[in-house]
Amino acid sequence: MLAKQQRAQQGARQVSAVGQGLRRAGVSRRRCAGATRTGDSVRAMRAIFLDIDGVLNSSRTPNPRKFPYVVDPGLLQRLLSLQQRTDAQVILSSTWRYDPVGLLAAKHFGIPFNDVIPDMPGEPRKKEITSWLAAHSLERYVVIDDEDDDLDDLPLFQPSPGDGLSDELANGVADYLEGKTDKDMRRNRIVRAVQNVQAMLNGHSG
Ligand SMILES: [Mg+2]
Repeated sequence: MLAKQQRAQQGARQVSAVGQGLRRAGVSRRRCAGATRTGDSVRAMRAIFLDIDGVLNSSRTPNPRKFPYVVDPGLLQRLLSLQQRTDAQVILSSTWRYDPVGLLAAKHFGIPFNDVIPDMPGEPRKKEITSWLAAHSLERYVVIDDEDDDLDDLPLFQPSPGDGLSDELANGVADYLEGKTDKDMRRNRIVRAVQNVQAMLNGHSG
């Protein structure tokens, strides 16, 4: 009973810490609605579930001080253009989201996120994403993540961790969100394994 209470208190503290981090980072607690009103029409929402490491930074991003949170300005610009083109909400799925410092770093670098997926310790990222999806109604969504992380049933767009978000991948995401194609873009499992080892050797952690 005592252990259960302690777990509940710990959970409440974590939720509170993330909430404070979000507010400090200037992120509204308002949850994204299933549709947004534009002029006289109501348009269903599009969303990008965004990993950061290996997407907005790569093993080639300069990081001489080995900071834990780093963003490549060129890759960020590509995301900003993609968001502008598709008018998609960005939902952070990166591990940055459950560290208040990571959230502040995301805000500091200008990553345009609207919400974060829940933190469910011990559960795979896919479960955290599907839990968010269950509470929202979307027109189209994509997951951009360089790891396989059990995401294979989702519309997955997988950068190489050595390159991050490429033009080709960003165009594929835009075409998918605009309904021009139903094809996602994943790396072959063997290529993925080799690239992940190379990225690890070059210092990219996830
Ligand atoms: Mg990653």
